[in-house]
Amino acid sequence: MLDVVWFKRDLRVADHAALAAARAPVLPLYIVEPEYWRGDDASPRQWHFLRAALEDLRAQLAALGLPLVVRRGDAVALLARLHAERGIRALHSHEETGNLWTYGRDRAVARFCREAGLPWHEHPQFGVVRRLGSRDGWARRWAGFMGTPVQAPPRGLSAPEVIEGAIPEQPFDWNPEDGLVEAQPAGRAAALDLLESFLAGRGADYRRGMSSPVSAPTACSRLSPHLALGSLSMREVVQRVERAGRDIAALPPSQRPLPVGAVQSLASRLHWHCHFIQKLESEPELERRAAHPAAEAARRPTAPDDPLLLAWAEGRTGYPFLDACMRSLIATGWINFRMRAMLMSFASHHLGLDWAASGAHLARLFVDYEPGIHWPQVQMQSGATGINTPRLYNPVKQGLDQDPEAVFIARWVPEVAHLPAGLRHMPWRLEIPPAAYPAPVVELSAALQAARERISRIRAAAGFEAEARRVFQKHGSRQRRFAQDDPMGERARIARREEKARRQMTLDV
Ligand SMILES: Cc1cc2nc3c(=O)[nH]c(=O)nc-3n(C[C@H](O)[C@H](O)[C@H](O)COP(=O)(O)OP(=O)(O)OC[C@H]3O[C@@H](n4cnc5c(N)ncnc54)[C@H](O)[C@@H]3O)c2cc1C
Repeated sequence: MLDVVWFKRDLRVADHAALAAARAPVLPLYIVEPEYWRGDDASPRQWHFLRAALEDLRAQLAALGLPLVVRRGDAVALLARLHAERGIRALHSHEETGNLWTYGRDRAVARFCREAGLPWHEHPQFGVVRRLGSRDGWARRWAGFMGTPVQAPPRGLSAPEVIEGAIPEQPFDWNPEDGLVEAQPAGRAAALDLLESFLAGRGADYRRGMSSPVSAPTACSRLSPHLALGSLSMREVVQRVERAGRDIAALPPSQRPLPVGAVQSLASRLHWHCHFIQKLESEPELERRAAHPAAEAARRPTAPDDPLLLAWAEGRTGYPFLDACMRSLIATGWINFRMRAMLMSFASHHLGLDWAASGAHLARLFVDYEPGIHWPQVQMQSGATGINTPRLYNPVKQGLDQDPEAVFIARWVPEVAHLPAGLRHMPWRLEIPPAAYPAPVVELSAALQAARERISRIRAAAGFEAEARRVFQKHGSRQRRFAQDDPMGERARIARREEKARRQMTLDV
């Protein structure tokens, strides 16, 4: 008999509750599941990053004298075979908030464990609460979890004699060249380096630099793919950031490696991480269904070969800054928050595309794909939640604000690089625009008008406000300090935001 530690998106040995709870002999297992990788939100670039993180986990386990057993196939079938051959005393894993596919797989594993009479211990790794009754008091519970001690890697565990198995080159037959992007390095040492370099001063310009795709790649922490795969635990990151915040605040301002505000901003985002994942944990169907019923009723499916979807997805909408963001994301697997929001908002509002199609495309492009952040953000930027003021980002205004010299455009849209900076933002203003670059696929003011009318129709639906209150009760943040959700009734704040959004909507281009 043995304990199985099933690694999923928790690829580390430090602060690993499942490993710490297991009793010897213990078999650390990773299952490569081809069916997961056939999903329309999974992609080769995510696999390449994961593969490198698995190699790293294997080395971490080896330092503890343990193997990483890797098998490919269906989780229930593999666990059943292992149980029949060796006898599983207990199965340990983290509590995963994944996509609908992993949710279904976990239900099947739970059924198997129940029928086989074997206990499956799922250990929380985020401040996300399973079977949460009410959002009231959630932030307190989050802080409570993050404040508990970080667990050291367990010593003295032994493993049975077993063939480890190679980590496959690919989960099923796809072109191995696919998905080779200039992504950041995977693994725990790389993740720790990022955290420490940010706190040692790289994050000094975080608050200002996070908005522009020119400065964000170095100004932001870049922890996202590591948090998505668990190379670091959220608790160790939160504790390290809070400690750094206290230490930095104790220094005279002239000696601070970065402003206290930068550390606080990072800390807020670590909180948002779990706040968003909680939404999908509480309502997994948000991957497919709009949070607000009126937004769901207004949806029209987008065909995979829709010309507007293809133009947006390939970075040839005719809006150079938007296309530059998409092309940079295609090449690197990462882009900053503001540009993610702009890409999504443009697809849903200006192009009128269904968020499921454009959201899946972005998911595949993100090396840091985290379903629990992704789908609620996709809905939020598409006006599908009913509790967030829809933001209609003007891609020209964003370009002028975030890339005033048009250097980012010149790098990613070479078709317009020879033009003076001002015209790189708006090549259609030339008498003879560059032949190699498309004309805008939609006219901005007409597209905005149509988007505003769609939003108004949704908001005028019978019972809209009552449903919005229900959505807020279930998912809304109760903490103003961290809030990205607008409780209905906070009129002044909503009005201020709407005024700002209106200004973004109405820039005369
Ligand atoms: C449409 C859309 C889709 C997104 N999809 C993902 C996704 O699949 N995976 C993902 O990790 N993030 C996603 N985000 C949130 C955000 O853009 C990224 O977390 C961030 O850009 C990652 O870079 P970073 O690690 O340098 O972030 P930092 O700014 O350094 O923040 C540190 C960490 O805080 C968390 N965080 C930061 N911003 C947010 C936010 N707005 N909401 C929730 N958590 C946040 C992330 O875990 C991030 O790694 C999405 C945002 C939008 C608008």
